[in-house]
Amino acid sequence: MCLVGRVQGSGVRPAVARLAHQLALTGGVRNTLEGLTIELEGSESKLNAFRQELPRVLPAGVNLKRIDEETIAALGCSEFSILSDDREGPLATVTPPDIAMCATCRDEIGDPQNRRWNYGLTTCAACGPRYTILRRMPYERLETSMAEFPLCQACLQEYRSGKDRRYHAQTMSCPQCGPYIWAVDQLGRKLGNHEAALQAAAAVLKNGEILALRGVGGYQLLCDATDEAAVQRLRERKGRMAKPFAVLVADTREAEKLAQLDPSEADALRDSSNPIVLLRARSNKEIAASVHPGLNTIGMMLPTTPLHALIVQLVKRPLVCTSGNLDGEPLAYQISDAEQKLCGIADLWLHHNRPIERPIDDSVVRFVGSNKMTLRLARGLAPLSLELPPGKPTLALGGHLKAAAAWSNGKQCVLGPHLGDLDTLATREQWVERLNDWQTLYRFRPLHLAHDLHPDYFTTQWALGQLMSHTACQHHEAHVAAAMLEHGLLEDTVLGVSWDGTGYGHDGYIWGGEFFLVRSALRFEHIATFRPFPLYGGDAAIRKPWRVMAAILQQALGVERLVQEDRTLFESLQLDKLTASLKFAPRCTSAGRLFDAAACLILNIAETQFEGQAAMYLEASADRAAEGAYPLPLARLRMPHLDWRPLFTAIWEDRRRGVAPATMAMRFHRTMAEGILRVAEQHAELPLVLSGGVFQNQLLTELVAEGAARLKLPGAIPPNDGGLAAGQLAVAHYRLAEQK
Ligand SMILES: [Zn+2]
Ligand SMILES: [Zn+2]
Repeated sequence: MCLVGRVQGSGVRPAVARLAHQLALTGGVRNTLEGLTIELEGSESKLNAFRQELPRVLPAGVNLKRIDEETIAALGCSEFSILSDDREGPLATVTPPDIAMCATCRDEIGDPQNRRWNYGLTTCAACGPRYTILRRMPYERLETSMAEFPLCQACLQEYRSGKDRRYHAQTMSCPQCGPYIWAVDQLGRKLGNHEAALQAAAAVLKNGEILALRGVGGYQLLCDATDEAAVQRLRERKGRMAKPFAVLVADTREAEKLAQLDPSEADALRDSSNPIVLLRARSNKEIAASVHPGLNTIGMMLPTTPLHALIVQLVKRPLVCTSGNLDGEPLAYQISDAEQKLCGIADLWLHHNRPIERPIDDSVVRFVGSNKMTLRLARGLAPLSLELPPGKPTLALGGHLKAAAAWSNGKQCVLGPHLGDLDTLATREQWVERLNDWQTLYRFRPLHLAHDLHPDYFTTQWALGQLMSHTACQHHEAHVAAAMLEHGLLEDTVLGVSWDGTGYGHDGYIWGGEFFLVRSALRFEHIATFRPFPLYGGDAAIRKPWRVMAAILQQALGVERLVQEDRTLFESLQLDKLTASLKFAPRCTSAGRLFDAAACLILNIAETQFEGQAAMYLEASADRAAEGAYPLPLARLRMPHLDWRPLFTAIWEDRRRGVAPATMAMRFHRTMAEGILRVAEQHAELPLVLSGGVFQNQLLTELVAEGAARLKLPGAIPPNDGGLAAGQLAVAHYRLAEQK
């Protein structure tokens, strides 16, 4: 029989072998490029018992899609063995994701009697790195970077014993035979291995200094999250002034001291994929304010590795845990690279010598009601299998920010992990390197490319430079396609809402507040949008909400009224000079930019450090108990559009009346949700599919959910540009099918 799904790297073979031994069946089990094949010889009654028991013995972390069975001639085996397989061809099975430390391993490293006591790099059949140490599939120790660590006698005994929990655990090791840790200071001096290195790392953290720690998929920067000066220092050195940091704590009990946890949020923290979970922060003063400035949410995570657990245990404080890079640069994952790139940021490096084959960041998830939404698809979650027919080998390149690729190798479709923004040469080089790596791991050469419509994106230019057929996908259509793919609706008719920052429209203008009627096989009809406004400065307006607000106020109120009612504001916006420039500014229908304008008007946020920051503050400031909403009529012109002029006029009037910003922020969110529901009303019989970065906003999305019956929220595929490539792959699939 052949097990299909995510069946490698979770200890399925040892579990199967144990069951076969128990039932005295002979034959073998092997990982293959298709999944996992079991060959059994024995009486019909024993085979039946095997079939019945199998689902019960499969380890957690297995995602079994189906079991194919056929009868073959008996080979007369005398025992049951675990075999290896090395056939050629495109990879058809799922690559195993990295798995966070399991509870048993955690107990072992805490037990002074255990031979793995304090061993920060221990793993077992149920936990440890997988994707990041894979050299080749199928998954076997010899095909991972653990091949460099031959097992010692004691480990070999555990590996061979059907009774041991490390029976056939591919990544297992111990302090005698496995990888080890050591610490290096700023002057390059080695401060010792093992226990001494751990103590040095803990001392640095307690001292308010910054530790660069080699984790599963690369380096992380850690510091004491309760020490304001330490966090400030990390911000300055990393060049990341405003974006919130995640906080690492020992367990959910510790998390609960800093944030409110629903049971589902606690489960997400404990999940073996070990993501950062965005939670509602408690308003205590334990955490330094600069960990998450201006926000009422906090990203938290539990230890990924035994090393994390040991450090947290020694320091006994919540720790900031963020990617080991200069802001905007690729994640450092090689030892020499980290010493070079993080020089000037870290005070101490804690290295280990288990080679990392490919880097990966930490994942981020957030709950909207009971719906778990991936905001960053990375360690533990990527590569993500997509329910799309594989067809022609295709590579979808994603967008420009939050870049991620998706591909079909002719056997399966997957969405790859988050790679960051492609603004720098270094990130672009890394992006090309990753594309090559995935082609090797998944054993394919693409015959077709899918990319964004935006002519200036690096990914578009790269695609046009390749000698290959390609599909150009409109940004917002690709977002909707990704969400339809997530919900298995590609063959259905839906109402798709795509709200984000900016994307290139079919008409060459800047889109971002779009509604589509999508018929079976991704035939898009653009049915509604926002009233266009001039985006003065184009993409430069992303970090200058005041520019959007100026244009909006000029059109909503008129210059005369503005001068009359708030001369100071009029002058500070230099609207007299701006008016001429606005005539030449590109037209824009972006919902994200309207959030920026509202944040500027309500909270006086004139400039920001990163896209979406103003909207995050606006969400954080909203008083959920406040009543009322603003008008946002659906005007019927050539294309129906939501007219924001009455909306901003009403905010203006509230502001003059001295209404609390928290009330105005809530009313604005409610109004935007009502705007969506107003369009949805006309297609009440259709599923309402939300996509685009704006829906990372929990408040907005929950308000839409309250009013919509057939709502489909983003889930495993990120709603932001990190999910774009999945949508592009789906669009390319149907366009290629049409050509046939
Ligand atoms: Zn374990
Ligand atoms: Zn050993």
